[in-house]
Amino acid sequence: MQIPSNSLLGLDLQELTNLALGSGQPAYRGQQLFDAVYRQKIDRLDEVSTLPLEYRARLAQEGWAVGLPAMARKFVSSDGTVRYLVELADGETVETVWMPEGDGGESGDGSEAGDEIEGGAVAAAWRRATICVSSQVGCAVGCKFCFTALLGVKRNLEAGEIVGQIAAVLREQGVDPPLQRVNIVFMGMGEPFLNYENLMKSVRLLVEGVGIPESRMTVSTAGIVPRIHDFGQEALRPKLAISLNGSNDALRSEVMPLNRKWNLADLMKAAREFPLRARERLTFEYVLLAGVNDAPEQAREVVELVRGIRAKINLIALNPGTELPYRTPEQDRIFAFQRILVAAGIPTFVRRPRGRDIFAACGQLKRTVEV
Ligand code: SAH
Ligand code: SF4
Repeated sequence: MQIPSNSLLGLDLQELTNLALGSGQPAYRGQQLFDAVYRQKIDRLDEVSTLPLEYRARLAQEGWAVGLPAMARKFVSSDGTVRYLVELADGETVETVWMPEGDGGESGDGSEAGDEIEGGAVAAAWRRATICVSSQVGCAVGCKFCFTALLGVKRNLEAGEIVGQIAAVLREQGVDPPLQRVNIVFMGMGEPFLNYENLMKSVRLLVEGVGIPESRMTVSTAGIVPRIHDFGQEALRPKLAISLNGSNDALRSEVMPLNRKWNLADLMKAAREFPLRARERLTFEYVLLAGVNDAPEQAREVVELVRGIRAKINLIALNPGTELPYRTPEQDRIFAFQRILVAAGIPTFVRRPRGRDIFAACGQLKRTVEV
């Protein structure tokens, strides 16, 4: 089922302008709608005070609404992370996570809190935050270590539903880009590159409407090779992260069956050919599974795989659960793995677990809610 066609959220400036023109309104009403929906994140048409009352009434009569998704539930972690259960128009739910001072940090563009902002004022005590957003209801890729995989895929999200998660969280948190710094990671439920057109439209709306630069967004893919190529050709694109999770084909195929379709040779060729911008690095994520892919020998295989690529690696200790056939490695084992990569000159970070007490961490989304 699709989002109802009467949702303004998801329409770009041109589409909103056409809507206004179609009702005999001047073209600039399109811009006013665009600002109201994306910049101001107003959730009710009758609050859009820039529009004449009769035009607001007409839009409502025609069945138009902003279409901001509802926050059905909210779980707050002791570390400040908030996990939202976001309810879509057809009753399906996805999860969106707010991480104050989140993991998007080390992939930032070098500017820090306290930067000069418009008018010479200095952003006060604001520290960056990261929003982790979903791209599909469930996921079809079937990685063996992932909770979302257990759901299968129900449907793609519309562009408006992707942006809507972010707009709703920003509203809830009272945060206003671009004055306040927000990173977006497409690392929630779903495989973004299996919903490519809607993903890219949501990126454009976030940049042009909400005011979040693409340099502060990261899309994570399990390795949909043809889309990695397409993504590299986009004029406007976020940074790219690839989930590696296995250091050789046998191992990667075992934990990510998709490797049988696009193997490591295909994947690393696409990674090598990916046109990085100045100072940009390609991120590889590697979920560590005790006794499966966390041996020193496997770290050395990873070094060989990424040789020659301007890469950085994020190591993620498995977020465990009884539904999963794997265990989390001991700290020592994780740091030993990291040391081998660092010694080979690859910037390697161990991801801080976030919101574990509320099951907000990567791969755990939708684990604890009724479906
Ligand atoms: N589908 C995309 C993005 C969503 S998953 C992808 O796979 O890249 C985001 C990240 O969470 C991926 O790097 C994935 O490998 C990781 N992940 C999935 N399940 C996990 C788990 N149980 N513990 C830790 N990380 C997990
Ligand atoms: Fe899908 Fe990513 Fe989970 Fe794999 S890790 S099943 S691609 S959400």
